Amino acid sequence: SKCTSNKSFEEGQVTDYGNVELSPAAGVLNYGQGIFEGTKAFRGEDGRILLFRPDQNAIRMQTGAERMCMQAPSVQQFVDAVKHTAIANKRWIPPPGKGSLYLRPLLLGTGPTLGVSPAPEYTFLVYASPVGNYFKEGTAPLNLYVNTEFHRATRGGAGGVKSITNYAPVMKAITRAKEQGFSDVVYLDSVHKKYIEEVSSCNIFLVKGNVISTPATVGTILEGITRKSIIDIARDFGYKVEERLVEVDELMEADEVFTTGTAVSVASVGSVTYNDRRVEYKTGDELVSQKLYKTLVGIQVGKIEDKYNWFAHE
Ligand code: PMP
Repeated sequence: SKCTSNKSFEEGQVTDYGNVELSPAAGVLNYGQGIFEGTKAFRGEDGRILLFRPDQNAIRMQTGAERMCMQAPSVQQFVDAVKHTAIANKRWIPPPGKGSLYLRPLLLGTGPTLGVSPAPEYTFLVYASPVGNYFKEGTAPLNLYVNTEFHRATRGGAGGVKSITNYAPVMKAITRAKEQGFSDVVYLDSVHKKYIEEVSSCNIFLVKGNVISTPATVGTILEGITRKSIIDIARDFGYKVEERLVEVDELMEADEVFTTGTAVSVASVGSVTYNDRRVEYKTGDELVSQKLYKTLVGIQVGKIEDKYNWFAHE
């Protein structure tokens, strides 16, 4: 069978949260044909629902589906589904500054396939859960562990897309790091084993002088929507932002390190441990990461003007 067909997704509907019925031969259960997304709805000061760049998630899902030989919904269908899910759960969206409604779009190969081939049918759904702020004000910064044993992605693999198959292989690395008291793992490239890639569910940045650097998206790291937004905000503040190969040694010599993602927004890093060497970074209110964090969150709750047009309203 082919990777794509001319079939389009049928009109969906909002239903109560519940289990999904699947064929035991579903492509997602047997061969991991699954893509997920993550985005948030916020409550604005005026009570309206604010959706942060859902079109970007829609496009990323399409790119992922193309890579994984799956059928994807249109951008309009995706954004409508996210919007309707947010509206149906409006009462669960916390007041401004108190959290958000996390929305989880899933694309699953639900048609049966016994041999290794694309599923003949796909299901797209969105579920939601209210979440607090990932980090409370004043919470200690992250302590990251550079893992040299497990890699998250390889050249030519699926690291650049949000395939469900990228996550189970690193759970061992994550749980081991947590057992040792670290917050999360920094992954290295699998070829040279010296360039940093990303953290389990966030992108990574370092600050040295007036320059901000972050690993380039060359197919092995996820192109974070927060990453892209923070690059725009930082450039508007006048920082030079470089997207390039970043050596792990540079991380150990940086003035400041931070991570970005839908869940964390912007989180400062307090320490990095690499081969038994631990470096600690400056913390506090004067950090570049704090300035970027405050700007992003300010836009997200409607306190700072959304000049980028990042919000779709209810
Ligand atoms: N990297 C990985 C591996 C992720 O799972 C995520 C979360 N989607 C990110 C980075 C951050 O991406 P975003 O800013 O779009 O949430």
